[in-house]
Amino acid sequence: MLLSDNTVGRGEQIRQAQHSRHLRPGIKDDADFSDAIRHGDTEPVFVDSATYRQMRGQISSVSKIVWRVLTVKITQVRNATLRIDFGNTRFLIDPYLAEKGTYEGFAASVDPAQPNPRANVRNPTAELSVPLDQILAVDAVIVTHTHADHWDEAAIRLVPKRLPIFVQNEADAATIRAQGFEDVRVLGDRAVFEGVTLTKTPGQHGSDDAHKLMGDVMGVLLQHPAEKRLYVAGDTVWNDHVEGNLAEHAPQVVVVNAGDARIVGLGAIIMGVDDVKKVCEAAPDATVIASHMEAVNHAELTRETLRTDSENRGYARNLLIPADGETISL
Ligand SMILES: [Zn+2]
Repeated sequence: MLLSDNTVGRGEQIRQAQHSRHLRPGIKDDADFSDAIRHGDTEPVFVDSATYRQMRGQISSVSKIVWRVLTVKITQVRNATLRIDFGNTRFLIDPYLAEKGTYEGFAASVDPAQPNPRANVRNPTAELSVPLDQILAVDAVIVTHTHADHWDEAAIRLVPKRLPIFVQNEADAATIRAQGFEDVRVLGDRAVFEGVTLTKTPGQHGSDDAHKLMGDVMGVLLQHPAEKRLYVAGDTVWNDHVEGNLAEHAPQVVVVNAGDARIVGLGAIIMGVDDVKKVCEAAPDATVIASHMEAVNHAELTRETLRTDSENRGYARNLLIPADGETISL
């Protein structure tokens, strides 16, 4: 039996592993786990890395336990699209799946006297960096809001209609159900999916004036007993919501949308350098990951500029700026 990470969701891999017969000890990372599955091992035990170090010495010499050490794996696909392995579950966040240049650029101005100079640049401005079959090999999808750079025509066509899709409110649920999706769930304070607790977190897509135009958005907190707490902030600027979420949940990993997208006349609608700096300083023990960069025409902050600014102003220590296609394991 040959199972590939790329074609089967992680939950399904584990279910299949649990149904096979032979045991083999010594699983310490994903590569070993994949190897064990290929060899038909069974009954993996899920632990965090600290517990593993502690238990392995006590148990492994007398017991043929298949260890599965959990790590949060976050793949920066493109724009705000992420694939996240968390617990024994794999999530796809905000799928924006069209080929480079498919759509007209966002006008990104509310001031007729001042058109956005990049309005004629087509979106997405970057290629899709991960093969589609890998992007779509997930157990569930989370759509933080239905703007066209988070849930696009290609996603509506390509995401399997049976996959569970978590959304922020009944309006977005109605939109996505009308597109043919069969299992759309409104995320509330707390939902448990395949052992992962999902909590909707508040945010705001720009200033109070911008909010009137941009509408509601959400972030999401992911929790599992053996994983680091992960807060995906969504399309929000730094504000009381974000500050409150960091204080209330003390996440150990934070994903921020940091392309500094702007609307002429309304200002920034996602985080720029100052906002990212505030997040890094408010959560000094967390790993902060910058996403939603260099993929849409109205988001002009580059990775290079953020990297340089973070080094010059002293917030680079806990900031990661993944390239499209890069996977971060934590
Ligand atoms: Zn966005």
